[in-house]
Amino acid sequence: MRALRSRLARSNGAIGKGLLALLSQGKLSEEDWEEVEDTLLVADLGMEPTTELVDSLREHVSVDGTTDPEVAKDWLYNDLLQLVDPSMDRGLAASRVDDRPACILVVGVNGTGKTTTVGKLARVLVANDRDVLLGAADTFRAAAADQLETWGARVGVPTVRSDREGADPAAVAFDAVKAAADAEVDAVIIDTAGRLHNKVGLMDELSKVKRVIEKQTPIDEVLLVLDATTGQNGLAQAKVFAEAVDITGVVLTKLDGTAKGGIVVAVQRTLGVPVKLVGLGEGPDDLAPFVPEAFVDAIVG
Ligand code: GDP
Repeated sequence: MRALRSRLARSNGAIGKGLLALLSQGKLSEEDWEEVEDTLLVADLGMEPTTELVDSLREHVSVDGTTDPEVAKDWLYNDLLQLVDPSMDRGLAASRVDDRPACILVVGVNGTGKTTTVGKLARVLVANDRDVLLGAADTFRAAAADQLETWGARVGVPTVRSDREGADPAAVAFDAVKAAADAEVDAVIIDTAGRLHNKVGLMDELSKVKRVIEKQTPIDEVLLVLDATTGQNGLAQAKVFAEAVDITGVVLTKLDGTAKGGIVVAVQRTLGVPVKLVGLGEGPDDLAPFVPEAFVDAIVG
């Protein structure tokens, strides 16, 4: 929890400081409230949650025209926490179930940090004594399989891949799932391609990968990787993926480089699934479970 809090603090803490400064100055004018609203929108909270939060703050924070900074802080913390929704189940299905490996499919637009996330996730699981196998079903670029294999070697887990650029991703996914069952590992993590400019092709490809995997095993997790710095644009992408596969959780990457942490709320609302993991850098240890309390704490300070 401390890691998430301290590493988010730099960028997102500025939002909280700005808000608290506004809220703590006594009676707020309409312009001040507009500034509160703008601050939340700039942080990518989204229109609806911003309106809800501002309405709640307006109702609670101002008492007789004076505002107690501690009261303001408490309300901001509690209201934000409600929006982040601590009641969502953020557990990851990554252990053997019914005597078979857990199957984790990782999807998202190229460049969001998918392959890196697969590598980091494998490392977390290995550190927790799990046997893991990777599947390189992003066959569009040969370099993608190389990149995944490098991560596998770094973390000490095998990678199933095809050497042929343009090989059928579903066939690679099938082979990976079979190899994982034969090797009796705890979890198989499958990386996929994400060329969004060809929306129909992408959806067809993902649907096929899913269908072919499900001939062998149920899929336990479909993690959508989203780049936090792409803001509301990322949300539009998320919807495309949600149409092709049933997303079970979101990995929000590059939160280390942005003050737009409000996207957590927006993405959960849009997809109806929790943010389960966050990427906080490019290194192998830069993946953390998403802890709502730590996240809000980092913003409000
Ligand atoms: P993919 O095309 O979706 O598989 O994306 P990659 O895994 O190749 O990542 C694209 C770039 O984003 C690489 O330079 C990664 O090192 C970088 N990256 C991935 N995750 C994070 C993160 O959480 N924080 C930062 N700062 N960079 C990241």
